[in-house]
Formats: sequence, structure tokens, C-alpha cells
Amino acid sequence: MTTTTKYIFVTGGVTSSLGKGIIAASLAKLLQAQGYRTTIQKLDPYINVDPGTLNPYEHGECYVTDDGAETDLDLGHYERFLNVPTSQSNNVTTGRIYQSVIEKERRGEFLGKTVQVIPHITDEIKHRVQILGNSGDYDIVITEIGGTVGDIESLPYIEAVRQLKWDLGEDNAIVIHLTLVPFLSAAGELKTKPTQHSVKTLMESGVMADILVCRTEHELPIDLRDKLAKFCNVRPEAVIQSIDASTIYDVPNLMLEQGLDTVVLKKLALKSAQPDLSIWNQFLSRHKNPKGEVTIGLIGKYVELQDSYKSILEAFIHAGAENEVKVNIESIHSEYLTETNAAEKLKHLHGVLVAPGFGERGIEGKIEAVRYVREQNIPFLGICLGMQMAVIEYSRNVLGLANANSTEMDEQTPEPVINLMESQKTIIDKGGTMRLGAWDCKLIEGSLAQHIYNTVDIKERHRHRYEFNNAYKQQIEEAGMKATGLNPETGLVEIVEIPAHNWFVGVQYHPEYKSTVSNPHPLFVSFVKAALDYKINNKSVSMAQK
Ligand code: GLN
Repeated sequence: MTTTTKYIFVTGGVTSSLGKGIIAASLAKLLQAQGYRTTIQKLDPYINVDPGTLNPYEHGECYVTDDGAETDLDLGHYERFLNVPTSQSNNVTTGRIYQSVIEKERRGEFLGKTVQVIPHITDEIKHRVQILGNSGDYDIVITEIGGTVGDIESLPYIEAVRQLKWDLGEDNAIVIHLTLVPFLSAAGELKTKPTQHSVKTLMESGVMADILVCRTEHELPIDLRDKLAKFCNVRPEAVIQSIDASTIYDVPNLMLEQGLDTVVLKKLALKSAQPDLSIWNQFLSRHKNPKGEVTIGLIGKYVELQDSYKSILEAFIHAGAENEVKVNIESIHSEYLTETNAAEKLKHLHGVLVAPGFGERGIEGKIEAVRYVREQNIPFLGICLGMQMAVIEYSRNVLGLANANSTEMDEQTPEPVINLMESQKTIIDKGGTMRLGAWDCKLIEGSLAQHIYNTVDIKERHRHRYEFNNAYKQQIEEAGMKATGLNPETGLVEIVEIPAHNWFVGVQYHPEYKSTVSNPHPLFVSFVKAALDYKINNKSVSMAQK
């Protein structure tokens, strides 16, 4: 087989949560910064067709691509690091693989053959791995394999990697194995045995690791690296230390210091050069040397989970760096927020973001949060469900429609200011059927949104079934909340604002998915700036009152 695309597989051993996604994204960054067109793909060994039907307790945030794929949150890291959009092809699950194979079988495409894991499932995996490479858009495809080697579910993937290494040839496909080198405090020692065992497990499936990346809390001494090299069949320079970092954005530089890119390029018979990380490092320096700080409240019902609002938290890091301030995020559980405690919980904040979400739980708390910040002129950003709550709050408390609600929360509400989209009314299946992916939006001239984006034509990513009910538009606008972004074909309201307020924006889409290190999202940048202004002005007000 001849190929011009090079393939890098990233497998994991010893434990999960070692940060394969960050290592893959960091390596991709280093390769991209040397001029190689690089993309990253994630293969997930679970049976759901995609993570869209998984709740945040199971899976963290569901990330959405331009072309409407509901994906693993690692794709968010890939985009944030590379500033290149991913697509349906960048995330494949076992469920999706089996679905395709079974559909082919039903169409009779296997011509009466018995359909088996090898070769049919493995062939489908190999095909999915090479779709990105064969597109001609990339010099290098990095494929991250979810799970840990030795898991029953991972076996077909490891087998596909074994075959691909043979099919593609030595210089065209390599395996990076990520492991853990634990420190046993009782013995005062770093231990290599778990790594040796996981490399052995990989070898039992016929796959030899070319490079080891070792997660560790302490520096790996030279003799320990030599030992790992000897026992694990790799060259000493291919034992890469990945020490705990204070921010994920340090990892590309740490991998550069360790020479990961150099070993990779050498093994792939590609030229290496000094990567140009100037934009990246400018961001890092602003991120690490803030000139001030603001505190923003994140109101949601999954706030105790680190990963459920991942893209929002990262977008604040990008926007903070852009404004040269540290953004402290205070997570506030919407279920415990009430009319009586809203002031006490929110009064010290410089901005409030009401998060996306589904279902009834915690809804009234979100509405209370909107009421408080609207009345107090505290900068507000509502995303998706957060925007819908802003519309409900305004309808109830300003228009006087006491029973205003979303039909998602109360199907029989007499004032359905948010209702099910027309296109959703005939849909029964839950998987992959929301309004997904990037849609055009036209901004109203002179609006805050137009000022922030500095254009009238934008495209943002969506994931929802419910929408602003246009039957209430005139009434709501007359009362002072304006629809300032509309879908040009359907007239769906995508943005609401309150011009009389300091900074009040609700968006039906998810701006957080598009924020990257080199392209921080303008809405987040403006929101953080508004929070900073609010902090400064408020201080001067209270000082003037003294
Ligand atoms: N549950 C709401 C809807 O489906 C909002 C979705 C979201 O916040 N992503 O419209």
C-alpha cells in the first residue's frame, strides 16, 4: 500500500485519565507548528453510537462540531490547541462501527459470508482511521484510542492498529503508549513495573510501542529511563517524561523540551525543524501574568463535575488571557439557589453565566439568578438553556406573564415563551436528532452582538430542541428585550439582549465550542471585559459613597 499520510496511534496503559487527549493535542501542536497539516481522531470503545445520549455524570461535556457531530470532549481540546475544526470523522465509537457493519450486512454487501470481529469489524475500524488520511487534507493523522490496553472492549482496536502497522509500513505508522510511573511514598521510589506490564499486554496483541510517554509526579532519573527502555523494547530517547503541569497549556512546551516531536518525526522519516510557538507562548505569558482578576459565577446543575462545562471553562481561560486578567470561576448549584438567598450568593460576582442544560431540575434557581443579575445590572451571559431562562424570567417579571415557561419544563404552560421547534415535533429517536452543528445567524445592525462580533454574518454551533417562541417576539421586544440575532432562513431567534442593561446577552447557540487559544471567542472576551468594567465601576461607586 502506498501512502503519503503518516499515522500516529496513541494508546493508554496502567490507568485511565492519564491525559491521552492532551498528549495527542500537544504533539499535534508541535507538528502543526513545524508546518505539518495535522489532525487528531478519537476512537471510543463503548457501544453508544455517539456520546449525545450520555449524561454529564457518565461522560462530561458533549462537544459539537461544525458538521453537527456530538462527540467526546477531547475533540474540544484538539480544536482549542490546533485552531482547526474537527468533523464527524474525528470521533468514532464501537457502536458506530457495529452499526455500519450491521447495515452493510442487511444490504447483503458481505455476499453470504459470516460477519466476524476479524476481519469485518477491524476492517471498518481501519477504514474509519484512514478516512481523514485519504481526504488529502492532512500530512499526519493522530488516532487516540480510548480506554486502557487489556480492556476487552479495546481488543478490536488494538488488532486494527497491529494490521495497519503492517499495511502502512514502518515509516508510516507508529504507536505511542502512554503509561503511569507511580511514586510509592512508603518506598520513596518511582516504580516502572506497571509500565512494563502494560507494554507486555500490548505486545501480547502483537503491537510494539515505538515511544513511551510516562506520566509522573516526579522527574524520571536517567537510570530509570534506561531501565524502561531496556525492558520495554524502545530506545532511551523514546522514553518521554510527562510530568504533572499546572495548566494543560504548558504540555506542548514540556513535550518539546522532552523532544517528543523529534523522536516522532525521526521514526516517521520526516524532517524536523524548530516549531513556531510564538502565538501559543504569547497566550501563555498573558495567561500566567494577569494584571487583575474578576470573579464570574457559573450557574448550573452539574457544577460539581469538573468536565461537564469543559469548553466554557476553557473559553474563560482564553478570554481571561486576552483581557490580561485571571478569571475566577465560582460554581453555583442552581438547585440550591432561591429568591431568598440569590443576593447573598451572587452579590459579590462581577459577571454571571447561566449554563446550558436539559430537563426541569434546577430550573427555578437559574431563573432567580437571571432576575437578580438583571435587576442589579451585573453582566450576564446565558448559553442555550441559559438564554431560554432569560426569556422566561423577562416574560414573568417584566411582561407580567406569571406562568411563562418552556414546554420542555411544562408541556401545558399557558404562556409557552419557549417551545419545541417545528422541525422537532415529528422526531421520536433521541440520538443525533437535535438541531446540531453550525447554523447561519444574521445580527441586527447597531446591536451589542454586532458590535462584539464586528460583523453581521456569523455561524455558531447549536445543540437544542426548543426555541424562542416568535409569537411572543413583538411583546417581548416592546418591553425592552431585543432579538438581535436571527437565522436568515427560519427567523429563529438566536440572540437576545437588553440594551438598557450593562451587558446582558443570551445566545441559543454554544459560543464556547469555537473558542481556541489563538482565536478566543469574542463573546467571552467581551463578557470578561464587561465583568472587569463592572468591578472597576462598582468599586468607584462604593468608594464615592464612603
Ligand atoms: N434543553 C434545551 C433545549 O433542548 C437547551 C439545550 C442546551 O442547553 N444545550 O432546547
